[in-house]
Amino acid sequence: GTASVYESLVAELKKAGLSDLVEVRLTGCHGFCEKGPIMVIHPEGIFYPQVKPDMIPEIVEMTLKNGEIVEKFLFKDPVSKKKIVHEKDIPFYKLQKRVIFGRNQMIDPTNVLHYIGEDGYKGLEKALFEMEPQQIIQEIKGAGLRGRGGGGFPTGIKWATCAKHDGDRFVICNADEGDPGAYMDRSLLEGNPHSIIEGMLIAAVAMQSHNGFVYVRHEYPLAVKNLNIALKSAREIGLLGKNILGSGFDFDIKVSRGGGSFVCGESTALMASLEGKPGRPRAKYVHTVEKGFRESPSSLNNVETYANVPHIINNGAEWYASMGTEGSKGTKIFSLVGNVVNTGLVEVPMGTNLRTIIYDIGGGIPKKKKFKAVQSGGPSGGCIPEQFLDVPVDFDELVKIGSMMGSGGMIVMDQDTCMVDVARYFLDFLKEESCGQCNPCREGIKQMLDVLTRICAGEGKEGDIELLEELGAMVQKFSLCGLGTSSPNPVLTTLMYFRHEYEAHIRDKK
Ligand code: SF4
Repeated sequence: GTASVYESLVAELKKAGLSDLVEVRLTGCHGFCEKGPIMVIHPEGIFYPQVKPDMIPEIVEMTLKNGEIVEKFLFKDPVSKKKIVHEKDIPFYKLQKRVIFGRNQMIDPTNVLHYIGEDGYKGLEKALFEMEPQQIIQEIKGAGLRGRGGGGFPTGIKWATCAKHDGDRFVICNADEGDPGAYMDRSLLEGNPHSIIEGMLIAAVAMQSHNGFVYVRHEYPLAVKNLNIALKSAREIGLLGKNILGSGFDFDIKVSRGGGSFVCGESTALMASLEGKPGRPRAKYVHTVEKGFRESPSSLNNVETYANVPHIINNGAEWYASMGTEGSKGTKIFSLVGNVVNTGLVEVPMGTNLRTIIYDIGGGIPKKKKFKAVQSGGPSGGCIPEQFLDVPVDFDELVKIGSMMGSGGMIVMDQDTCMVDVARYFLDFLKEESCGQCNPCREGIKQMLDVLTRICAGEGKEGDIELLEELGAMVQKFSLCGLGTSSPNPVLTTLMYFRHEYEAHIRDKK
């Protein structure tokens, strides 16, 4: 509904003779998706949620002309029942630390000057003129940045290894975000594409690469559009192409659209797809940092990882490492969806616990229902029960409780959710997305799904639970790529924490 609100606002300002006095910026996502479309009036930061075109005349007349608040349009906090005027005072925002996502709220992604006005491309300038490539890599290592795409591999080590190998190095951005319920990369690309371009440029200087690719998910047309606009304007002002900012360094980025396959988020499958081949993973006896795209050294990071890079170069490794936990530094964006009051994108320091994310920021479970579980880590993540709500969320702690960070999807489930059905849903998704080239994954997932389907239909048999465990262990152990090895997670974690639900289905035949 944002486009019609924007048009109404522009027309109303014109009618009121305020067009020259009020600048209207169509920004990217503010994160508070539950309350969109959002209008924030600066400099005060007056916050109007769920704006519709018929609210515009009153807002223009009262707030923009007379400086008064339209009380009835304000945000009402569901907990305190109080109306809140300013964006910064809303609990959803107050408890977050929006380092990466914050600029989304201030800039028009199609205007490079807005990004530059928010200190954009300062990190690139520093990397080009004040630092040696090795120093950049050291800074990223010192910051403790780990890949935000799911694996959590240390970015600095990846860059250092790639830089060590000779050949035409490639800097690739994985924007093939395919987890159901995850959309942080899409919002960054749509709302602040220059931050990703700048991150890739700094990576290119660090690894002395001259060619970059962004591999974007097929279903993200606005992200592709805004990214292409950003690339064009960056080229026009000398930030991309030959002799960047007069430094003598050359680098450019091409955009490639994926074909809608989930497994193409896996590094070797993505590179095969970029080459125009079928997107199938290969065994990684030789890593892609040595032989990746076109057999050349290739460094692949996801959208959010690159968006972190300019902040590290601007503010230093020490500043970055001061946020987060011992093994996971910085902040992380989560997409909080499902049975939660405030669905949206949430950025918090690593180590923030699930209770803070789901209750204090997310507002808890709607209709006073009870929390049952949260599924983290995408379709092959795990379902975390209530007893772990106080666990600090970071790469290592989530693994200890049978789940994983993944790219940051968090699907909250209430008391009415059937956990067997949830496991079946995710397995069905993975069966469709398996590339099918290795038997354990292709056949194992199918067999597990057949068992789950009959349990859900009330036709489960004695021994089905043990069969699921046996098949799950086999698929985990013998599949070729991460999709296969992690695919039994939803089944195995629900069996670990909600076994009684499986038993009840089988026993009660329903
Ligand atoms: Fe393909 Fe699954 Fe094998 Fe991965 S594990 S290569 S997705 S069949």
